Amino acid sequence: MPTPGLDGYAPAWLEPEHEDLAELARGFFSKEVLPHAARHEQQGHPDREHYRAAGELGLLGLSVPEEYGGGGGDFTHEAVLLHEQMAVGEGSLGLAVHSGIVTGYLVAYGNEEQKRRWLPGLCSGELVGAIGMTEPGGGSDLQEIKTRAVRDGDDYLVSGSKTFITNGGLADLLILAVKTDPGQRAAGISLLVCELGDDVPGFRRGRLLDKIGLHSNDTAELFFDDFRVPAANLLESEGSGFLQMMRQLPQERLVIGVGAVAAMQRAVELATAYAKERTAFGKPLIGHQNTRMVLADCATRTRVSRVFLDDCITRHTRGELDVATAAMAKAWLTEGQCEVVDRCLQIFGGYGYTTEYPIARMYADARVQKIYGGTNEIMKELIARAL
Ligand SMILES: Cc1cc2nc3c(=O)[nH]c(=O)nc-3n(C[C@H](O)[C@H](O)[C@H](O)COP(=O)(O)OP(=O)(O)OC[C@H]3O[C@@H](n4cnc5c(N)ncnc54)[C@H](O)[C@@H]3O)c2cc1C
Repeated sequence: MPTPGLDGYAPAWLEPEHEDLAELARGFFSKEVLPHAARHEQQGHPDREHYRAAGELGLLGLSVPEEYGGGGGDFTHEAVLLHEQMAVGEGSLGLAVHSGIVTGYLVAYGNEEQKRRWLPGLCSGELVGAIGMTEPGGGSDLQEIKTRAVRDGDDYLVSGSKTFITNGGLADLLILAVKTDPGQRAAGISLLVCELGDDVPGFRRGRLLDKIGLHSNDTAELFFDDFRVPAANLLESEGSGFLQMMRQLPQERLVIGVGAVAAMQRAVELATAYAKERTAFGKPLIGHQNTRMVLADCATRTRVSRVFLDDCITRHTRGELDVATAAMAKAWLTEGQCEVVDRCLQIFGGYGYTTEYPIARMYADARVQKIYGGTNEIMKELIARAL
């Protein structure tokens, strides 16, 4: 990523514009958003205002064409933004979903009218985006979703529920996976863009879920009961939803991989600094051979992870990232994140277990990376199928 880590490594795709973007993003996250971290954590969601502030700085929709209000860049720009957010420890704004995923669906599958209607608001931060696939009955077997959309004149009537929806507490715009033909599995799935609000008949937000980590980002249940969605909000055609999701999921998995590598890098930096300043048995921790071995392992794992991630990003920007490679990246990078963060936490001793130290939060936040975006077990299924 742009700001070279301990190792001075920088990706092949890095251009001066990425470095400028990294500096802007880092300043925004650390000076504008992080000072509110305690309140965000307490309320369970970021301030809506911070989405608007990010939009004003041009940090939202970096890969959206300029004619729709975006930055006109590509996935490398989104990756830089997400890396910088994670690198400073900012976790309240759900940008991985808002910019990394939702805008991608609209750019790829929206018609001209849909793009003009929603993309400018997502890029300015007036609208907060979310995606709803997972249901209480299951997330891995997407073909079995039960949320139903029945055509009624010029509208669909949507009934069902979604759970674990990132940005679900604040979202104004939801890409919703529904069954338009319950008799079919994959071929019965469609994607509807839902305009949400707090007083919309047939729609209700459930509670914000109480999680072991990611406390400052809103993860919510969403309920629909004959919720009216204009048929004009359908993305492409009925029955194309499953294929649309399968085509977008490699990018979602890369987004998760970017966060994983940034977290590994931060963990190594924090643990190295701590090991240099803390003493035990009359010398700094880093003077003990085991500490040096652990840090050497973690730094190596981080460097190798970055090189693999950058190769995946290069392939993705060329349109050549296949499903199995994206699955490898998601599974291997997130397993690496959990391992590296755990080993780095150990270097902090008891302090590593207190939430005053960022490494403790990083430990709790890391765990979900092996679960969402398709669990790592499902990733391994996808990899194995390609062998
Ligand atoms: C904080 C958070 C944010 C999230 N954000 C979103 C979001 O924005 N939008 C969204 O739609 N979803 C979101 N999710 C949901 C997430 O994607 C699902 O939790 C995940 O896909 C797993 O689905 P599940 O929880 O229903 O587990 P299940 O599908 O019930 O799986 C349970 C266990 O069984 C294993 N398993 C299932 N099938 C197989 C198999 N064939 N072979 C081997 N093992 C298997 C799984 O790997 C897992 O270990 C989020 C989840 C969390 C926790």
